[in-house]
Amino acid sequence: MRRVMILGSGWGGFKLLREMNKDAYQIVAVSPRNHFLFTPLLASTSVGTLEFRCITEPVRGYTRNVEYYQAWCDSVDLEHSKVDCTSNLSSVTKSITADSQGDIQGNNKKLQLDYDHLIIAVGSYSNTFNIPGVKEHAFFLKEVSDARKIRSRVLECFERAEMSRSDEEKNGLLHFAVVGGGPTGVEFSSELHDFIREDCSRLFPQLMNHVTLAVYDVAPTILANFDHSLSEYCMNKFKRSGIEVRTGTVVDKVEDGRLVLKDGKVIPFGCLVWSTGLTENPLTASLEGRVLKSRSKRIMTDPYLRVLDTKGNVIPNVYALGDCATIKDHELPQTAQVANQQAIYLRKALNKLAKYPERSFADVTAPFSFKNLGSMAYIGNWEAVVDMTKINENAKESGKLAWIFWRSSYLTMSVSIRNKMIIPMYWMLTWVFGRDVSSFQEYDRRKRLMDAERDG
Ligand code: FAD
Ligand code: MG
Repeated sequence: MRRVMILGSGWGGFKLLREMNKDAYQIVAVSPRNHFLFTPLLASTSVGTLEFRCITEPVRGYTRNVEYYQAWCDSVDLEHSKVDCTSNLSSVTKSITADSQGDIQGNNKKLQLDYDHLIIAVGSYSNTFNIPGVKEHAFFLKEVSDARKIRSRVLECFERAEMSRSDEEKNGLLHFAVVGGGPTGVEFSSELHDFIREDCSRLFPQLMNHVTLAVYDVAPTILANFDHSLSEYCMNKFKRSGIEVRTGTVVDKVEDGRLVLKDGKVIPFGCLVWSTGLTENPLTASLEGRVLKSRSKRIMTDPYLRVLDTKGNVIPNVYALGDCATIKDHELPQTAQVANQQAIYLRKALNKLAKYPERSFADVTAPFSFKNLGSMAYIGNWEAVVDMTKINENAKESGKLAWIFWRSSYLTMSVSIRNKMIIPMYWMLTWVFGRDVSSFQEYDRRKRLMDAERDG
């Protein structure tokens, strides 16, 4: 059977892994992340509106007839159809032994795998634009681990402020800064604002007049990709609810607890979330000079999602989709919507190709075309904006009705029946009982015990 290797378990890779015809192909999946992540609801988990488990699907739940390796792909040998991978398990005690394929290197952490078809769906990284201090002192919002860190940091800021005797320090600790006014920045600010208004005000009423929340962006507006009236609606709504919108702001650097702006202003913060756009990840970077890249450093494909070499020729049996790729002369947005549609397209095409092996790929399918179904963003206090003006000029909505649409669409899109059941359950629980504010931070019990023994 021909081997289809899928790199990545995100919106593109996970869909393919689940839905490819396993009778026609041997599916091999490589991803360091052992779960799929439903990113549209990630911001909700960063403040506890939803629990983390509501938005993940374990890869292992879908690996019947799939070879799965929890590993990073480090490099692709396009000439010999092989990939080199490193396991991302922190300590491998037993070496990986190969049976179905004898070509796994005996050494425990490295493995080499071969493929007949390769699908690259490794996503992207957050772009820091090399601004000093961002990687060290800011939080990103891309993975569950990021949301977890943000959640405990926000709680820590409140607890630290509680212990502080200086008003100035309290103000600093309770300044929450969000850099980037795209949908992710806006949704995170909205969720955080809900959390502060609905829960912190009840738990820390004495601290409330020290709390500030601000969104910083270089652009003159937030939600710049949305219809103008919707982005205006969001700005006004933020102003009314006390979220400061500081547009036209250029960040110079970030220090520990201090945001330094180009104009010299220094703003102390307790927690800073950085969400200013995307850049290539190391695997995509490693393909430099061997595949065609777009200006935005994405892998360039032809309209059939086939990767192009530097001369613009199709590399046979290598496809790329999702955030890490784009179609030549057809820049696609980096959204789940695109990755999802591309995965469906590729699944259909490859399954068909298996039926007609004598035909070529371009023979069994038409070129991919993206259907823009519009965009949505949650803007806080049970309101959202929905922009479908790409489909119909007048199709836009803001406010409560849009919010109902927002919630029901994402509920419908979530993958498993389990998640379709627990998401509304957690929405309900949060509404009735408030968000959970236990943070499961490590505190060094053993060290305390040893210190006590020594001193005693
Ligand atoms: P991803 O889903 O990012 O998956 C990449 C996968 O590749 C991951 O499993 C990763 O672990 C794996 N990987 C990385 N490096 C390697 C390697 N070297 N080898 C093997 N595997 C590797 N889009 C929308 O359309 N609507 C929304 O509402 C929306 N909300 C969002 C909210 C947030 C907070 C974020 C961060 C994104 C949101 N997006 C949304 C964008 C959407 O999530 C992405 O466009 C989408 O995830 C892209 O899918 P992908 O498969 O290309 O990459
Ligand atoms: Mg993917």
